[in-house]
Amino acid sequence: MPEVFIDGKRYEYDEEQDEMLLQFILDQGLEVPFFCYHPSMSIPANCRQCMVKVGTPVKDQETGEYELDEDGERKIRWFPKPQTSCSTKLQDGMVVHTQETSEKIERVQKDNLEFILANHPLDCPICDQAGECPLQIQTYKYGPEGSRFEVKKVHKPKRVQLGPRVTMDAERCINCTRCVRFTEEISETNQLTIVSRGDKNYPMTAPGEEFDDPYSLNTVDICPVGALTSTDFRFKARVWEMNQTPSIDITNGKGCNVDLWTRDNEVLRITPRENPDVNDHWMPDAGRYAYEKFNNNRMDRPSITLDGDNQSNTSWNNAIETFAEVLEAHDSEDIAIIGSPHASVEENYAFNKFFNLMGVANAKFTPHVIPGSGDGFLITDDQAPNTNGCRVINLDEADEAGIQSVVQGAKVVIILSDDLVGREVLSTDDLNGCYTISLATNYSDTTKSSDLVIPITCVAEHAASYVNVDGRIQRSFPAKETKYTNRRLNLEMSEGRLDRFGTNFDNWVSEENKVDCLPVWDFLNKLGDRLGLDFNYDHSRAIFSDLSSQFETLEEVSYERMDEEQGVQLPIKQKEVKA
Ligand code: SF4
Ligand code: SF4
Repeated sequence: MPEVFIDGKRYEYDEEQDEMLLQFILDQGLEVPFFCYHPSMSIPANCRQCMVKVGTPVKDQETGEYELDEDGERKIRWFPKPQTSCSTKLQDGMVVHTQETSEKIERVQKDNLEFILANHPLDCPICDQAGECPLQIQTYKYGPEGSRFEVKKVHKPKRVQLGPRVTMDAERCINCTRCVRFTEEISETNQLTIVSRGDKNYPMTAPGEEFDDPYSLNTVDICPVGALTSTDFRFKARVWEMNQTPSIDITNGKGCNVDLWTRDNEVLRITPRENPDVNDHWMPDAGRYAYEKFNNNRMDRPSITLDGDNQSNTSWNNAIETFAEVLEAHDSEDIAIIGSPHASVEENYAFNKFFNLMGVANAKFTPHVIPGSGDGFLITDDQAPNTNGCRVINLDEADEAGIQSVVQGAKVVIILSDDLVGREVLSTDDLNGCYTISLATNYSDTTKSSDLVIPITCVAEHAASYVNVDGRIQRSFPAKETKYTNRRLNLEMSEGRLDRFGTNFDNWVSEENKVDCLPVWDFLNKLGDRLGLDFNYDHSRAIFSDLSSQFETLEEVSYERMDEEQGVQLPIKQKEVKA
């Protein structure tokens, strides 16, 4: 195996990977500061921060053997100047000194930071990036103690609305060109370029154009400073006030891996989480706005329709009793259940199993596809996160006409988390002819047409899995509390600094914004108790173990495996999803 020596320690590397020195250093868990390098984009080496001292061993030209010095050590031919490690290829026998073992490199990195900061504003106290800012962090770690620049800083445009979702503060830009390269190499819209020269330059669109790239907010994530900010999230919260929880984007079929950022039981922003097998480092802008659905317009307490049109809130006891009485008053063949590609594998399975135990026929579901709306990258025609999950657990796939005929032939229709009226699969008239029960996360046209609505947890409130369009099963974690959950007691919920150290008397610990809802399985446990059914699941994890023992496709899958491997590719091919 070829070898390199970094700070006196020997490492082997795989030549076929064709890795650059900086990436190799990072892969070993070592650190060298950098700004412009990004593993998924080209390497301009323009920030000059990742300098290291590099040398290669001298070989005898005739024998090909390493030449040795008087101490018997290999002779090293040092590059005459420090090299940018991001653009230096690994070579067999290479010797590298980082800031850890070379005073000169430590000095070079300090001086480079001093230059970068020469015109940088002292905005940290009000800058959105503070707390997660590579420039701030690296200045603390590797920067100079002070600046020798005593001249007035160059001023540039502040609060520039680059596009509908991105606001720029040009003074904070360090001209790393990550945002420009993103639009050239990843989203391929070429909407940004660097304008002006020298210390006056910054990124901009062509005159009269706006930065409306459907992936524009990824530039906010990769900007190593607070120059590009999300217009929506700007000034909403400091990073250290929020909890970060891994989850899945449920706004389309790709299942981009994301992080949900919560404070006071509200999701404040959604950012992509790296998964090379699904979304690399990116996600579409549209998926970031799903947080609004997690916070607003939520079904909060069960609701019942009395006297025709009047919907009003009711108690859980009354909802369970009403539900049970409706079921008891009808033959199982008069009851139809409709599963949902918008709900998780566990929700669909528990829902179907519960009613199957009562003799009700298998749940139907209909995919939610808008042909032509996908882009072949991370936006799919499929609008739902779990169409393949419904297939894996053998729910009956139906087209719109199939769903309509099921509803027309039933006296009771129970719908799991799918706005079938809003997406025009069913009409209000279709539902008027039967007793409709919805299990729903949000108010919708379907809940408006329902006789009984049971509020259920959304993806931000429970652990559950989803099978994406490529057949990969991935899972979410609970990120925000409901009326019946407690972050301190639930080991799956992340705890931020304020949760750990806050008290009931400080501003950051809040009982507000907790939705009065239950996981589907928890509600069905209670309904099952009332009906005397043998149905009881404590956690989605128990549902999944049940599933994996029943369906061959899921045999080898577990929550642990999904966590370790960032999802598991199932042995299924994507079916042609019908419109
Ligand atoms: Fe501070 Fe970073 Fe913002 Fe600059 S970009 S003001 S260093 S937080
Ligand atoms: Fe780099 Fe940010 Fe400036 Fe773009 S705006 S060039 S990403 S520092």
